[in-house]
Amino acid sequence: MASTEAAASGRAAGEGLFIGGAWVPPADGGRFTTVNPASGEKLFDVAEAGVADVDRAVAAAREAFENPKWSRMDAADRGTLLWRVADAIEARAGELARLETMDNGKPIREAQIDIAMTVDTFRYFAGWCTKMGGDTIPVRGNVLNYTLREPLGVVACIVPWNFPLLMACYKIAPALACGNTVIVKPAEQTPLTILELAAIMQQVGVPAGVFNVLPGKGSVVGMALVRHPDVDKIAFTGSTEVGKTIMREAAETLKKVSLELGGKSPNIVLADADLDAAARGAFSAIFYNNGQCCTAGSRLLIADSVREEVLAKVVDRAKKMTPGDPLDPKTRMSPVISKAQLDSVLGYIEKGKAEGASLLTGGARVEGNNGFWIQPTVFDQVGIDYTIAQEEIFGPVLAAIPFTDEEEVIALANKSIYGLAAAVWTNDVKKAHRIARSLQAGTVWINTYHPLDPASPFGGYKQSGHGTDLGRHALDLYTQVKSVWVDLN
Ligand code: NAP
Ligand code: MG
Repeated sequence: MASTEAAASGRAAGEGLFIGGAWVPPADGGRFTTVNPASGEKLFDVAEAGVADVDRAVAAAREAFENPKWSRMDAADRGTLLWRVADAIEARAGELARLETMDNGKPIREAQIDIAMTVDTFRYFAGWCTKMGGDTIPVRGNVLNYTLREPLGVVACIVPWNFPLLMACYKIAPALACGNTVIVKPAEQTPLTILELAAIMQQVGVPAGVFNVLPGKGSVVGMALVRHPDVDKIAFTGSTEVGKTIMREAAETLKKVSLELGGKSPNIVLADADLDAAARGAFSAIFYNNGQCCTAGSRLLIADSVREEVLAKVVDRAKKMTPGDPLDPKTRMSPVISKAQLDSVLGYIEKGKAEGASLLTGGARVEGNNGFWIQPTVFDQVGIDYTIAQEEIFGPVLAAIPFTDEEEVIALANKSIYGLAAAVWTNDVKKAHRIARSLQAGTVWINTYHPLDPASPFGGYKQSGHGTDLGRHALDLYTQVKSVWVDLN
């Protein structure tokens, strides 16, 4: 079933690399295979870019950046063009969601949400095209001083596999809205929807070279983009480890870098919370997208007096999760992305057991098929220093950590190298806001988990990143400011 569907929708995958507005074969003829994580079966052979293709794409993106077709395009027209991209994605939403599901393994219901949010993101940034002004500044003397907000140039977006199209568009949409040209390096595991986006860009008339896609290896294509002297900025979403490498390597050319990295987000349940809502929230905080969310609520900090009651509800839900066809709208559970990820997550589960955490449910691979399925796993009585409380697992593993008072829970929550997201569940409005202020995290949810919107800023504190995606703050990541002085005497 999967491969027939794919043949219907993944047509861009067979076309090649997308460079300078055309599908081109890789210079060295390389190809790699994408697989469906739900079945372990091959989906497509995809053209694999190499270093020579990076040079070609950067030259095309530079030329397009300087071409008046793009550089002199009226802001209103650029906005209209991005709006058309949104419309075209929306028109193919069902097909794109199916393709995302096959490539990534996520349930179709979640893929549909990704695509709807991608459409929203393009529309949000399309609106900014005509609203990004500079300032006039009241400086001393008889002079006029004003600022221009100018694009950076060629922006390379290096993106992960967990929300393949959406994470890419968190960068592509603002980068284009600000007048840059873009090269995208999708994750090896999930190139398909980003290649379809190239076809959409072509279809709606985005000028040649403004948008380019180079599927390939991070260590080759990603690294070549990071080192390339003619790339002006790297917009990266991925692991903290690779983020550090990128920052080091980018120092050589001092290119701009923004980093959306990993997390180990604390989800705090106070004793006075609505416990049903908190349990539902704790469940979706960790198991949405199978724990493969940078913002996953992987540390459940739970008031000791309600611990057993809340955990019983979470475990009950976890036990009901069963593998299903990800294309079936009723399916809620998904596989992890790859065999390597499966082994890594199982390794963390073993560490949790060895370090003394108490396993309440799950803890093993789902046997009986070749996909990469892991039972939803909940550990209780996890010590804050245990590996499973400190390292990002990026899979369906929840670590519950008990606490007794507010001061203690804030200290526990902040005891992490990460600071991406956090949540607190309580019916006490003062406590909620007091705790929200004390948490070292770029996003704090109160009595909810996971909502994001392109209009609201999203970024990491501490080792979760540099720079804020989404919202008006994203415009600062894709523009530079010029100060112009005019003598009026
Ligand atoms: P990853 O291994 O860091 O890879 C991310 C991207 O970087 C991929 O395209 C990868 O290419 C590329 N890459 C790898 N090594 C590179 C290098 N040396 N130079 C340049 N590029 C390189 O992350 P992942 O496993 O795909 O994704 C999971 C991670 O992303 C988690 O840590 C998660 O928390 C994080 N994430 C963060 C956010 C956020 O907004 N903060 C959102 C989503 C995910 P290959 O595919 O070839 O390896
Ligand atoms: Mg795949």
